[in-house]
Amino acid sequence: MRLAVAFALALALAAPRALPQSALPDLGGTADATLSPQMERKIGEEIVQEIRSRDPSYLDDPEVIDYLTGLGQRLVQANPAARQQFEFFVIRDHTVNAFALPGGFVGVHTGLITLAETESELASVLGHEIAHVTQRHIARMLANEQQMQLPLMAAMAAAILFGRARPDLAAGAIAASQAGAVQSSLSYSRDFEREADRVGLQTLDAAGFDPRAMASFFEKLQRSSRVSDDSTVPGYLRTHPVTVERIADAQNKAAALPYRQHLDSVDFYLVRAKLRAESGEAQDAVAAFDSAVRDGRYGSEAAARYGLALALLRDGKLKQAQAEMVRLRALGVASPMIELLDARLKRTAGDRAGALKLLADARVRYPSARAVAYANIAALQEAGRNDDALKALADAMRAYPRDARLYGLQAKSYAALGKRLLQHQAQGEAYALQGSLPAAIEQLQLARASGDGDFYQLSVIDARLKELRAKHVAELADMKR
Ligand SMILES: [Zn+2]
Repeated sequence: MRLAVAFALALALAAPRALPQSALPDLGGTADATLSPQMERKIGEEIVQEIRSRDPSYLDDPEVIDYLTGLGQRLVQANPAARQQFEFFVIRDHTVNAFALPGGFVGVHTGLITLAETESELASVLGHEIAHVTQRHIARMLANEQQMQLPLMAAMAAAILFGRARPDLAAGAIAASQAGAVQSSLSYSRDFEREADRVGLQTLDAAGFDPRAMASFFEKLQRSSRVSDDSTVPGYLRTHPVTVERIADAQNKAAALPYRQHLDSVDFYLVRAKLRAESGEAQDAVAAFDSAVRDGRYGSEAAARYGLALALLRDGKLKQAQAEMVRLRALGVASPMIELLDARLKRTAGDRAGALKLLADARVRYPSARAVAYANIAALQEAGRNDDALKALADAMRAYPRDARLYGLQAKSYAALGKRLLQHQAQGEAYALQGSLPAAIEQLQLARASGDGDFYQLSVIDARLKELRAKHVAELADMKR
């Protein structure tokens, strides 16, 4: 949660002044933060980019991200103070942790997802992190540092959020050591924690989850910390100490709310099964799911069979995996994740046409599942059907105009078709969406020089180049401010 604090701090600093000051209790911070929302977003983007490009544990799994985003957005919508855009991402790490960066980026460790036994428990942590952002905690903490230049601020945020555990992620040794010097003064105060718990609990309840899950997850965290030494104490606990008082507080507040049982989505169980099936040795994963299925020890039979099929595929046992998929299908459970695993099995078995047909049907059935769109496009590209891939991309881009991955896939299809201007133009937009303006400008210059554009295309490129350069200049000025 250290990273989260820093990010949150920056975010808070930059947050629009939309909230009436009276809505925020005075926690002793400088409420007059002047960091612009753009600056805050930029700090968050810097750190996320750093994680994406340099952290091998960044989990580039659209299915898990799709699920977490759906859950997170449900909570964001239930938090009336959430005005900025939120983005959720996942780190493959068995420690229990989550953090919120400035600009509305929330990262979650896979260890936290697998420790949560109900969707409401996972949601309770997300609700808490979202509250750190909306209550401007990081911003209020960073308020004293606002004269700092952007790279240092981003490094400081990274150092705070990742702490000792990930010194590699602190951008630059000097910046990191300076950040380390102020780190001690930048952990969430008890008041911030209490406020994040209070707002998080309200959010949890308003979004329709079981508000008792917050206390039950705190207790689980406490139990898991008792059996481990300091090096494995869940990171979440180190930065968000769970005290008897916090647990009692969460219990009391939840007790005052009407009882509600939340029916967990099948995707919650499938995502946990996927993360388990993909960690450790494949054989061990097969054995664990196999015995769970045999003994009926599972929260969801479909998820247990899904996990078994996936682990078998990983272990190179295609025939057995296919047999398990038949049993999974017989349960009649609907999820895009099941379609995607089935398509993978078909593709591995050499049935490319079968996989394509399945993905095309899944696209119609699950139009909002990005993971299905990506897989469908990738399968079309693999089959050399780049014109069809471009059509599918155009559809997906209408739904998700700010999705960098789609632009990257588009660039790939244009490259395969030998359309160089369009290829570099798409790649440039992918970089721009990731917040990397110099790389975006370079791609547009390549597009300009490609020699295969008409007058109209070239003037579009020129206009866009002008726009991006101006934005870059403004950004540089912002950093030096
Ligand atoms: Zn916290």
